[in-house]
Amino acid sequence: GVRVRYAPSPTGHLHIGGARTALFNYLFAKHHGGTFILRIEDTDLERNVDRAADGFAEQLRWLGVEWDEGAYVGGEYGPYVCTERLSIYDDYIRQLRELGYAYDCFCTEDELAIERENALAKGETPRYSGRCRHLTEEQRNHFLAEGRKATVRFRVHEEDTIHFSDMIRGEMTFEAGATGGDFVIVKSNGIPTYNFACTIDDHLMEITHVIRGEEHISNTPRQLLLYKAFGWEPPIFAHVSLILGADGKKLSKRDESIVQFIEQYRDLGYLPEAMFNFLALLGWTPEGEQEILTKKELIASFRLERVNKSGAFFDATKLAWMNGHYLRQRSEEELLPLVKRVFLKYSKETKEMESDLWLLKLIALYKDKLSYLAQLPEMAEPFLVEIPSVHKEAQVLLADRTVSEVLQAFSDVVASASTWDADVVKAALKTVQATTGRKGKDLFMPIRAAILGQLHGPDLNQSLALLGRERILQRLHQVTR
Ligand code: GLU
Repeated sequence: GVRVRYAPSPTGHLHIGGARTALFNYLFAKHHGGTFILRIEDTDLERNVDRAADGFAEQLRWLGVEWDEGAYVGGEYGPYVCTERLSIYDDYIRQLRELGYAYDCFCTEDELAIERENALAKGETPRYSGRCRHLTEEQRNHFLAEGRKATVRFRVHEEDTIHFSDMIRGEMTFEAGATGGDFVIVKSNGIPTYNFACTIDDHLMEITHVIRGEEHISNTPRQLLLYKAFGWEPPIFAHVSLILGADGKKLSKRDESIVQFIEQYRDLGYLPEAMFNFLALLGWTPEGEQEILTKKELIASFRLERVNKSGAFFDATKLAWMNGHYLRQRSEEELLPLVKRVFLKYSKETKEMESDLWLLKLIALYKDKLSYLAQLPEMAEPFLVEIPSVHKEAQVLLADRTVSEVLQAFSDVVASASTWDADVVKAALKTVQATTGRKGKDLFMPIRAAILGQLHGPDLNQSLALLGRERILQRLHQVTR
């Protein structure tokens, strides 16, 4: 059966690009009734960040990209963390040495840098010269006596041509001689390189398809050389195109015009089902026009062959639209805990949290207007602060003295009301209409402006009901004084 993996390096937070790679692996596995594996590739010790792997796991779970096997859940092919597999790699290094494919290299960083610079100066592509390929016992001992630490390199047969058929990109050909020469498979600290660990792990974990980002395409020839040296059948590769920013260029992690990490989306009140749907369509086009698709539908229609070769434009507006759609699918009760989180994080006015019942009504009032929940504290400001800011156009309207008649009349009706809800508000407005002869916009706009500080907003009856009699009177008093 199909076995695929997502293999993040625990060096930061789950990025939208990584999340999409994980998601494509997940969709592909589920579509084929296969197994999706999470492997932690922590071979770059200096770049590893404490607890970063936990973060990846948490964010993937939040997204609904659950893995069947791997780190945190276990399985028969473990361990699933590279640094826990060092003794396994040792065996294969030994095998390569025996096969004549691996040798110790004592070149220092400085020596290699000079070699690289010389090549560049001559206009050549830098490649390792292979000068440690045939060291004598004496030379080795000399280097060791100098205190040099060896790396282990893989011997590349320069005349080889490497072919593979990429499920997204089609036929790919590389000349082994153009891959940069003999490459390092064990670093001087004794830890295998990514290319080596990845190949061993993919083979031992019986990975059938390697679905990963285009940035790894230059690693594939080297990995294929390793498969060949061991006499192993390689998996099928599929390299997913890059994500492009608004400028059409490869998304830079520093680009601040786009929110880039899954955790940030969660904090802003994006819903996992929206992110899931959106990321699935980032570079993949299902058949049919439909864009709102459930997880089940996405699984059913996912085809790696239909993943685009060209870069995928990240359309933040579309994501906002999609999230708004999914927000409206959720009940107020379901949104309540998320809204509370958002208030804790984003609301500057830290007045004590209103009751759940009150918040539920507030959510109902604004649900249709939101793209993501973190917009709520600002949008709903008139309900959250003692004295709301008055928008420019509301100020202009209120400066017209003819509105004071309406406001005074409304104030009188509100003051004499004995109960307060949307129906009472409605009746009160009717009364004001009758006494002042004003109706429609001429009636509603001054009231909205005076009480909410804005000319536009959610349903007026519901808004005034939620705001409560006391606050309405207080605000009317401010402007009619
Ligand atoms: N550890 C690599 C990364 O985080 C994954 C490469 C692969 O999927 O082979 O980019």
